[in-house]
Amino acid sequence: MPFCPNCRYEYKEGIKICPDCNIPLVPELIDEEWVIVYTSDQLYEVQMLKDTLESAGIDANILSQKDSSFPGTGDLAVIKLLVKSEDVSSAVDYIKQLNNSKPDNGE
Ligand SMILES: [Zn+2]
Repeated sequence: MPFCPNCRYEYKEGIKICPDCNIPLVPELIDEEWVIVYTSDQLYEVQMLKDTLESAGIDANILSQKDSSFPGTGDLAVIKLLVKSEDVSSAVDYIKQLNNSKPDNGE
């Protein structure tokens, strides 16, 4: 059964996106074996890293946490990229390479 990594709601087989959180579901809930290797407030950026890691054969999960401790600032969210503990070093290498090859225009 797929789960939403954010609100931890369990969905029926075949559902891919949590309609509440608008993020991809994961096959199972994240446990202690998963380690945060990257955080961002840009979902597309974390999603891109996840796709890159997965195409390199590294399992990755996205965890999104809305920060509700600042009322009035809207949807301030921290999105975390997690990989299994055994993949941390190679995942960090990939992320470093990506960040180095990306021209930084300050956006
Ligand atoms: Zn959700």
